[in-house]
Amino acid sequence: MGDSFQIIVDKDVSAEDAPRLAGQVREWLVARRIIEPELTDSALGSPGHRPGAAHTEALKTPDSSAFLGLATNGLAIDVGRTVFFTIGGELTCRACGAQVEPEDEWTEAVDAWYEGDDGVMFACPECRQPERLTEWSGRFPWGFGKLGFKFWNWPPLSERFVQEVAEKLGHRIVVVRGKL
Ligand SMILES: [Zn+2]
Repeated sequence: MGDSFQIIVDKDVSAEDAPRLAGQVREWLVARRIIEPELTDSALGSPGHRPGAAHTEALKTPDSSAFLGLATNGLAIDVGRTVFFTIGGELTCRACGAQVEPEDEWTEAVDAWYEGDDGVMFACPECRQPERLTEWSGRFPWGFGKLGFKFWNWPPLSERFVQEVAEKLGHRIVVVRGKL
């Protein structure tokens, strides 16, 4: 059985502000008992915070707590320039409506962004209309940013909770969903 994740990505935070903002949101989540304060071996690739006593307040369906028994059920907070990707993402061209799968040219643009080109463009493979890489969206978008909150194996987060996190961040966000 694979591990799934949901990542709330801050699209706009600067590299300078990201560590402070990460700390503020972490404290807020701990105070609300959505997560435990301790860092444990509960995420993949980095330490994570296990779900807290009031974690159901973050969920779409409050009684879906089966994930509490999993070894991997933490929230990992990633700070620093990161490509938050999902395998086989699905994007929609705003100009022509084509469904676009991230492939070769997309990967080139992603590499350029990762190397520091925040304004890199990606042209729709169908109509060739260019759009900033970071503005491409769709049913399964990627996230580009310097701060991400990665919930491992949590049931679907509620829209209200995602909105509250966005307000706390004070920036635009994108939610990246995927499965390993
Ligand atoms: Zn297009």
